[in-house]
Amino acid sequence: MNEQIVDTLYQSQNADDESLKLLIDCDDSEYLHHRAFEARKKFYQTDVYMRGLIEISNYCRNNCYYCGLRAANHHLDRYRLSPEEIYACAAEGYELGFRTFVLQGGEDPWFSDDRVCEIVHTLCTNHPDCAVTLSLGEKSKASYQAFYDAGARRYLLRHETAEDAHYRMLHPDSMLLSNRKQCLWDLKAIGYQVGSGFMVGSPFQTLDNLVADLRFLQQLEPDMIGIGPFIPQKDTPFGDKAQGTLKQTLNLVAILRLLFPYALIPATTALGTIHPRGRELGLQAGANVVMPNLSPVKYRKLYAIYDDKICTGDESAQCRRCLARRVESVGCKLVVDRGDVKR
Ligand code: SAH
Ligand code: SF4
Repeated sequence: MNEQIVDTLYQSQNADDESLKLLIDCDDSEYLHHRAFEARKKFYQTDVYMRGLIEISNYCRNNCYYCGLRAANHHLDRYRLSPEEIYACAAEGYELGFRTFVLQGGEDPWFSDDRVCEIVHTLCTNHPDCAVTLSLGEKSKASYQAFYDAGARRYLLRHETAEDAHYRMLHPDSMLLSNRKQCLWDLKAIGYQVGSGFMVGSPFQTLDNLVADLRFLQQLEPDMIGIGPFIPQKDTPFGDKAQGTLKQTLNLVAILRLLFPYALIPATTALGTIHPRGRELGLQAGANVVMPNLSPVKYRKLYAIYDDKICTGDESAQCRRCLARRVESVGCKLVVDRGDVKR
């Protein structure tokens, strides 16, 4: 029964809502994951792209209920990297074979448009063969345009959840789903390679919410799709909520691969946090990107989006070696490449 749904999904790159719900929750998912792995091979063989993540600031003006960086969390020591520290992280990453840098952070006003543009421009000048990706939250279209003009070509902004009623349960009233979606459309219109995505198993989430997430992504057609399990952070309003499951997250990675065969889909750190081989299982379910941390080790624990995050103690070079082993253990290959989308 499930095999038939999977075959239809593989061939038509679509499925009806009920079929999607069955697959999201199915326990016997070997065939689903197997077909997803075949689909990724058609576009990307067994290549896995690496993105060097540089966590530039843990200051945030927002108060998402799920995130440890929220402004109201007074238990967190705050830091921000200087431009020179960012350049040093990228230079170290370049030596290790990274050709994409992702600058991510809370919505920190210190990183004004001018500062971000200056940093992007310098990184592009220092490493002309690399792609600079930003993940700095919601900005005006003019700001996104300025970052693009400075050389940024990719932007990651998860929509988090596509239905308004659920979005309201995860965010204070000052934040609007309509604004977040508009940001994604603005980014596309400017010409960015856009990444979106959502948390799996966030509080109050239903299967219908997850189907709505998939439908929204079908409208948006992003180049990159990042999903990971929700993991509670003890100093947030959701500190005592249950974490997202490995099963649903892996099934959704596989479903996303079948819906979007061309997409760049990371096996996320959150997946590696809820299971020791979570990232490997993600690759086996169709993911084709890993995003190891290039941030200075002394700050890593402070980027406490959720509890018990992995890889906070290792030097970048150690992470790189460890990941190469993990990627090879599932028959894939870590490549030195910008890893642009193929579509
Ligand atoms: N401020 C930016 C980028 C940093 S947050 C933004 O919000 O877009 C990066 C991602 O971390 C978010 O998109 C969210 O999906 C994820 N995240 C936040 N809290 C989380 C939690 N408790 N568990 C799992 N993922 C979480
Ligand atoms: Fe800030 Fe992003 Fe965390 Fe929301 S998810 S509190 S915007 S860092």
